Amino acid sequence: MKLARFGAVEAGGTNVICMVGSDPDHIVARTRIPTGRPTETLGEVFAFFQHEVSVGGPLAAIGIASFGPLELRRSHPRYGFIRKTPKPGWSDVDMVGPVRSTLGVPVGFDTDVNAAALAEGRWGAARDLKTFVYMTVGTGIGVGAVVEGRILHGLGHPEMGHLSVPRHSGDDFAGHCPFHGDCLEGMASGAAIAARWGRPAEQLDGDELRAAVELEATYLAAGLRNIVYAIAPQRIVIGGSVAELPGLFPLVGAACLDALAGYPGLPEHAADEFIVPATLGSLAGPTGGLVLADHASQPGAVPS
Ligand code: ZN
Repeated sequence: MKLARFGAVEAGGTNVICMVGSDPDHIVARTRIPTGRPTETLGEVFAFFQHEVSVGGPLAAIGIASFGPLELRRSHPRYGFIRKTPKPGWSDVDMVGPVRSTLGVPVGFDTDVNAAALAEGRWGAARDLKTFVYMTVGTGIGVGAVVEGRILHGLGHPEMGHLSVPRHSGDDFAGHCPFHGDCLEGMASGAAIAARWGRPAEQLDGDELRAAVELEATYLAAGLRNIVYAIAPQRIVIGGSVAELPGLFPLVGAACLDALAGYPGLPEHAADEFIVPATLGSLAGPTGGLVLADHASQPGAVPS
């Protein structure tokens, strides 16, 4: 069977990854473009895909996985735009329209985190599950929820990185979220760890590292308790640089069980496979773009 040929874009604050392929094992071209000003950066994206089309043939669709916040409501006049973002020059930038008009293919569009969730669901740690959550803990915290096989949208996209978490007893750290101070992201993101300890998580060692990992597990578990109760996920997949801290996963699992306090008492919540590491690593975002492209190319897909 001939594999579909899709394009994928993962637009990040530092780099834009472009890819042509069908799945993580069949990537035929990729490039990394530093994220500069929108017009120039998108021009380089177009040039990459135009070259790939000229040498390898047409693409069935392109999926864009972008940093946010994004306008994802298809009925909204600003559908396909990046909304107000601290990234200089990128507020109110149309991502979908120029890609569609320049490259002439259907375009899928979602947040980088939601795309990564879709990729983990198709090829990674949440394969074959219908309802699961993907959390990335890096500089910030992002969460994508797949519910009954569909990524959860509504009025915008969920922002579960900003859930409220109870303060650990004796913890007087102010928190690092510019909006809420001590929300989940404010207490447990990589930026929060660096602000609390005076250096990035990967530079911690000894007693400090142990203390940081324990505290991290406590706050992540507090956030996950809210997610478990709100979404009822079959599995929670955690990726991002902070998820690689040594010994974190067993502590998060135990702390999450503590936070649930025996309610509702599902044995699945205590199983090792309930909270697991992501498996696609840095491929999750761009291959999530391939999933978005696949969705956009399906007959009956809402034109974007
Ligand atoms: Zn916040």
